Amino acid sequence: MELRAVKGMNDILPGEIERWHALESAFMSHVALYGYQEARTPMLEHTSLFARQIGETTDVVEKEMYSFTRHGDDLTVRPEGTAGLARAYVEHNIHAKEPITRWCYVGPMFRGERPAKGRYRQFYQAGCELYGDAGPFCDAEMIEMLVTFLKRIGITGVSVHINSLGSGGTRERYRDALVGYFTPIQSTLSEDSQRRLAKNPLRILDSKDPRDKEAAAGAPSILGILADDDRAHWDGLRTHLDALGVPYVVDATLVRGLDYYTRTLFELRATDSDLGAQNTLLGGGRYDNMIEGLGGPKVPAIGFAAGIERLLISTQLAGAARAPRCFVAPLGNGTVGPAAVLARDLRAAGIGTDMDGRGTSMRAMLRRADNLGARLCIIVGETELSRGVVQLKDLSRRTQQDVPLDAAVRVATDLLAASPTPSAGEGAP
Ligand code: AMP
Repeated sequence: MELRAVKGMNDILPGEIERWHALESAFMSHVALYGYQEARTPMLEHTSLFARQIGETTDVVEKEMYSFTRHGDDLTVRPEGTAGLARAYVEHNIHAKEPITRWCYVGPMFRGERPAKGRYRQFYQAGCELYGDAGPFCDAEMIEMLVTFLKRIGITGVSVHINSLGSGGTRERYRDALVGYFTPIQSTLSEDSQRRLAKNPLRILDSKDPRDKEAAAGAPSILGILADDDRAHWDGLRTHLDALGVPYVVDATLVRGLDYYTRTLFELRATDSDLGAQNTLLGGGRYDNMIEGLGGPKVPAIGFAAGIERLLISTQLAGAARAPRCFVAPLGNGTVGPAAVLARDLRAAGIGTDMDGRGTSMRAMLRRADNLGARLCIIVGETELSRGVVQLKDLSRRTQQDVPLDAAVRVATDLLAASPTPSAGEGAP
């Protein structure tokens, strides 16, 4: 058997992980400006949570979940974050503690989809959920927050797509309208969509199959059948977006793949990136019935999730390289022990330190120190050690000095506190 990672699941190794850290912390600090605080929920939830909230006839629940039974519990590795956070919101009675709650998260999600560029079986999402405010201002604020975030991480060329699914009976009325529209042209639809017609006709609008796209082009718009209060919400969203200076496209075919949405739906797509068909950077919407559906009070909510891999493909954001500031190079018999003690003391003083105790040559160790980007290299040589000194090289200033072993940490600290290269006039009498 060839030993390989599971298909659609990727390793993220040093060299690459730095960009992940940079993106995740840019995300967390951006959403903190809007009051979001991190919540971490388990990777596993009861399968029924996802089945009920995401919808039994969605692709995710029908064929993509990683589910298993253990200790008598039917469990699923989370395919998305919203349901788990909503479960936690209800379980911990958060609504009784504060009127409005803003939570954010970053973490891996699992869906057995067909892998492609920007589509994986383990992927990472960063998302936010806002509970307790039904006003369209929240929807607009969330979209503005995301447009601003993408700009901040250098993703330009983004289009904002919005739609409304209405609430109450709108979805059912729209469903009937779609069945009425698609039934006479049923034979022109893909096999999947013919099946969807009976079960979940809204999903036909979401299909990427060219046959379905063509058939859907003339479908009635849900926006035409919104009830008065849904229309007021929709108009409010647009007014607020205009006031916040966020351009958007009204896209009546936007339905998204999860059943829990009510009223506002939105997607931000990359218009100029290498993502190809997988160009939806993030998507979200309102889910005003979920909290109540989970046995909680009637608390409206809105949220979104962004695909971290897709953001990383689209942004030039660089990661901070890990560079030890000091490299300890033991050279000769009996030097590894004292060198290891010195390395420990440097680290205790807060100086990132690497050491090579394999007994390689000085040249190889200096090259390694240089490649790692270390500022200082401390050579712990056999003869120097017998005199109680070590040789301290400042690799950026290209200077070196012998220093007493017991003063090495202090001298290293002073050198690192000074500027890496001599400034003009330094060293002048
Ligand atoms: P969803 O949870 O389906 O609303 O998706 C929200 C965002 O998560 C999408 O816009 C993508 O950026 C990302 N996403 C969803 N599914 C995948 C996947 N299989 N692989 C990579 N990213 C994904």
